Amino acid sequence: TQAPVNVTVTGAAGQIGYALLFRIASGQLLGQDVPVKLRLLEIPQAVKAAEGTAMELDDGAFPLLAGIDIFDDPKQAFEGTNIALLVGARPRSKGMERGDLLEANGGIFKPQGEAINAGAASDIKVLVVGNPANTNALIAQSHAPDVPADRFTAMTRLDHNRALAQLSKKLGVPVTELKKLAIWGNHSATQYPSVQHAEVGGKPVEVDQAWLESDFIPTVAKRGAAIIEARGLSSAASAASAAIDHVYTWVNGTPEGDWTSAGVVSDGSYGVAEGIISSFPVTAKDGKYEIVQGLEIDDFSRARIDASVAELVEERDTVQKLGLI
Ligand code: NDP
Repeated sequence: TQAPVNVTVTGAAGQIGYALLFRIASGQLLGQDVPVKLRLLEIPQAVKAAEGTAMELDDGAFPLLAGIDIFDDPKQAFEGTNIALLVGARPRSKGMERGDLLEANGGIFKPQGEAINAGAASDIKVLVVGNPANTNALIAQSHAPDVPADRFTAMTRLDHNRALAQLSKKLGVPVTELKKLAIWGNHSATQYPSVQHAEVGGKPVEVDQAWLESDFIPTVAKRGAAIIEARGLSSAASAASAAIDHVYTWVNGTPEGDWTSAGVVSDGSYGVAEGIISSFPVTAKDGKYEIVQGLEIDDFSRARIDASVAELVEERDTVQKLGLI
């Protein structure tokens, strides 16, 4: 049997953490034959709550859960870790400027990047969920110079899954019939969910442009707000589910003839500024996410991609000015 894989989860006592940890413990993050050791990171005030969640994890008697440790120090939490899920972040409070939000998150993601650089296992894979996820991932990555940049990713899989769900409803087909949807750009309201290359049952998807522009794209981009409105609470369970999907796919690969979406470091593909962490259509193979190459981009897609990328460049410039990267 395999040695346990170390999985660090930050913000472990939060809403997403509560949904996520049980899915990890049950074996859904990596596969049904892979034991995991959980390393939970919280801020000191939330350590007690994390201990409560750990008690419940014990009570799950999960066969694949090989241990749980709780930390309030990133250096310890990332020591020897193989998979890091960076969920804890500074939420945007009322009246907070974007620069202030980025600065507050810099105080979280800079030391975490440094701790990953110093002590994580050589095969470390990092997924940033805490918002603004793309730029938080960039901050962490820039403080981990000894870790290959492509090990840092940001979650747009929830947006991808939301797009799959909307298109599946519209076409009246199960999600399994749909392939090659893509989320481009930032995990924000400017994101571009693209059906330009999408296939249903192996044939190009045909939907009218008006539906795309006035229904599909805004529904996907504003889904988080719609769920808060309906539920009175944020979309923590679907976010946790997408985090599971992101890592599972990263480790186990995408099926032949399909792709998924993830925020990855841009190599300049499709004119996306090199070095920013932007969502692209990606395939996964042998534990690596790769940007799908050679897609034709139509004018509508071009304008949407450029707008979202411009926002990411602005965020990068802000954190650069603040000395956070
Ligand atoms: P959640 O667990 O609900 O959310 C955590 C982060 O995930 C937020 O940044 C949130 O962004 C983001 N997120 C991304 N996608 C989604 C989505 N679809 N739905 C909801 N959130 C999404 O937050 P809680 O406040 O419940 O918990 C946060 C925990 O993190 C707290 O326990 C806190 O103590 C901890 N924390 C830990 C740190 C650390 O370990 N060093 C540092 C900072 C906080 P958004 O703000 O946009 O909702």
